[in-house]
Amino acid sequence: MSDDPEPAVNISGGTAGGGVAAEFDPATADTRAEAVVDRLGELYWQKTYGGQDAFTCLVRTILSQNTSDKASQPAHDALLERYDGDDLDLAESLAHAEQSTLAETISSAGLYNQKSETIIDTAEWVLEEFGSAAAFDTFVKDEAPAAVRETLLEVRGVGPKTADCVLLFAGGRGGVFPVDTHVHRIYRRLGIAPPDADHETVREILERDVPAAKCGFGHTATIQFGREYCTARKPACLDDPEACPMADLCDQVGVYSETGEVVDPADAPE
Ligand code: SF4
Repeated sequence: MSDDPEPAVNISGGTAGGGVAAEFDPATADTRAEAVVDRLGELYWQKTYGGQDAFTCLVRTILSQNTSDKASQPAHDALLERYDGDDLDLAESLAHAEQSTLAETISSAGLYNQKSETIIDTAEWVLEEFGSAAAFDTFVKDEAPAAVRETLLEVRGVGPKTADCVLLFAGGRGGVFPVDTHVHRIYRRLGIAPPDADHETVREILERDVPAAKCGFGHTATIQFGREYCTARKPACLDDPEACPMADLCDQVGVYSETGEVVDPADAPE
C-alpha cells in the first residue's frame, strides 16, 4: 500500500472552488481512457478540484518537483510559516527573501538551492507582471486555460506539469490532465498512448479522450494507482495477472510476466 494515504478531508476547493462533480461508470465510457478513469473512480475516493490560491499552488508544485509529497509538505509548511503573514502578500515577501534563508527553510524538499532560486524568480515575475499574488490568482481563474498555460511556461523552472497543476488545483479547470512520471508510464503501458509518446503527446491524448470533468480526478487517481499497482519496476500483473484491477483494459506494453522482465514501453519490441 502507499505510504501517502488519501487525506481525510477534501484538500481542494471542491465544487465551491470551481471543481465539477462527475459520474464514474466504466460501462458507459466512450473511450478506453475514460473506462480506465471510471474504474479508478470505483477504486479511489472521488474529489473535485479548484479553489486553491494560485501562487501558493505554484510554490507548492515547484517544491514537489523531483521529490515525494512526504518530503515537500514540511518544506511548504515551513515556507508559509516564515513568509506568509496576514498583512503581507506572499509574492512580495518571497521576492524579497534572502536566498540562503529560503533555501534553509525548504531544505526538506531537496534541491533546495535550485528551488529557492526558482521560487524567488517566480515571485519577482508575479509582482512584475501582475502586481500581487491576488492579481495572479484572478488571472489563473479567469483567463482561458491555454493563455494561462502559455504565460506560466515563460517562467524559468516552470514546466508543463507545473503549469497544468496550477490550472487544475487553483483554477479548477476542467479538461486539464497533468502528466507526471506515473501518468506518462501507465497510459503507454495500457496501450492508450503510443509506446514512444512524450509527456505532451500523452497529455493531448488524455485531454481528448477523457471528459473534461474527469481529468483532474484522473490525474491524481492515476498517481495513486501508479504507487499501489502499476509501479515502475514491479507492476502488480508481473506475478499475477489477476492482481491488477485494470488487467482487462491493459495491453501491458513492456511488461513480460513469463520472464519477469519490465522495460519502458518505448524500449519494448513492436
Ligand atoms: S495490468 Fe499491469 S501494466 Fe497494466 S495497469 Fe495493471 S499493473 Fe500496470
